[in-house]
Amino acid sequence: MRQDIRDRSRDLLRDDKLQDNLRRALGHTLDRRAALVAENPGWAELRDRARDLRDESLRRLPELRAQVERQVRGRGGGFHFCRDAAEARARVIEILDRAGAVEVVKGKSMVSEEIALNAALEARGIAVFEGDLGELIVQLRGERPAHITAPALHLDRRQIAALFRRALGQDVDDDPVRLAAAARRFLRPHFLGADAGITGANFVVAESGSVVLVENESNIRLATTLPRLHIAITGIEKLVPRLADLAPLLALLPVSATGQKASAAVSILGGPRPSGEDDGPREFHLVLVDNGRQALISDPILRPALRCIRCGACLNVCPVFQRIGGHGYGAIYPGPIGVVLARALLGRSDGAHAFACSLCGACDEICPVQVPLSRLILEVRRRAQQDAGVTAERMAHAAFAEMAQWPRLFKMALAASRAAIRWWPRWFSTSLTGGWTDLRAWPRPRRDGELRRRTGSGAT
Ligand code: SF4
Repeated sequence: MRQDIRDRSRDLLRDDKLQDNLRRALGHTLDRRAALVAENPGWAELRDRARDLRDESLRRLPELRAQVERQVRGRGGGFHFCRDAAEARARVIEILDRAGAVEVVKGKSMVSEEIALNAALEARGIAVFEGDLGELIVQLRGERPAHITAPALHLDRRQIAALFRRALGQDVDDDPVRLAAAARRFLRPHFLGADAGITGANFVVAESGSVVLVENESNIRLATTLPRLHIAITGIEKLVPRLADLAPLLALLPVSATGQKASAAVSILGGPRPSGEDDGPREFHLVLVDNGRQALISDPILRPALRCIRCGACLNVCPVFQRIGGHGYGAIYPGPIGVVLARALLGRSDGAHAFACSLCGACDEICPVQVPLSRLILEVRRRAQQDAGVTAERMAHAAFAEMAQWPRLFKMALAASRAAIRWWPRWFSTSLTGGWTDLRAWPRPRRDGELRRRTGSGAT
């Protein structure tokens, strides 16, 4: 049976270990971020600049795309624009086949999750090894990432140690340094032996045709320099016009994502190794994926979702994500931004994720590029209702609106509901208001005029 977010949430809320892991991981990140923001008097201006830059990029996307293509091809790289996930998967496989690649190491890439790249490569007989520690952990568990920037935040080090003992055959305890060393022992031969490295891109600079990659583990540096072929795959919205635009974006990203002032490594890569140089891949390809993004740019209301720089801060601060984690959503992109992207990019139309949102607005306040998430989530709800057509709930609202215009009828209906709640409380809460009353008591209905007597006012 297909589970929805409510079914999954019931199980996840009972998982004490998950609740502990989420509380600890998200709490630390949010505390560190808050301290860094507090000591930066220019934070608000940085957010304004970043928002304006992202909007400029989205306005100029066709022109920037042409500029990137010229730059990448001019330096001997391959440039590919793919309309959808199937085309992107086919293009990557074609490049790997032409290079005779049978083993790939990957850097973290949400677009590769979006287009289900790993499964396609494995079906083609190409072995894939995730090089990011968190991604390796979820790959070994056969799971999707639980977070945009912290794929394994739902696990603690004891669970990871048990996984490494089982899946990697390594005799390791839960000391973080020894866990990292175990992952390194397993991955190092693959970095050295892989035919190709596949990464995402945090940004792609149009004026230079450079791919910008932000990381903490340096696995991306290995994946982009050791194998003879590097493929960078990302969404078209990641283009920025100028190198100088990176300054505000790179100042906001690590603070928002992991509560760090700066990431351990930022790589700005310019394509294949020039002749006479010893470093870098011999072959380089940039794959830009549309997969619904052009349509989203033309959407006057949901378009600001494409400002997103995938920092994950809106997930960290979201009270729903804090309780159910990324897997509760059952979606590629979880959390507030995932609610919007699920509808706008991936064509999910049931709106269940949008209705799980409490509309507290914390995501609006934390987003470094000012994506107005609660406004967009409300719009996703509105469209989901529209798609659903005439539902029992809509008919009930219409009937209520009609009845509210006839005072005598309204009073009779109130009296009838009071009696129903009083005499058949279980039926009322399970049949009519199920969901609202599962975890909270239905308020006792007041008698006619009770409020007026209690407050002494004319209000009812
Ligand atoms: S919507 Fe904003 S806060 Fe959420 S991931 Fe994107 S940039 Fe970060």
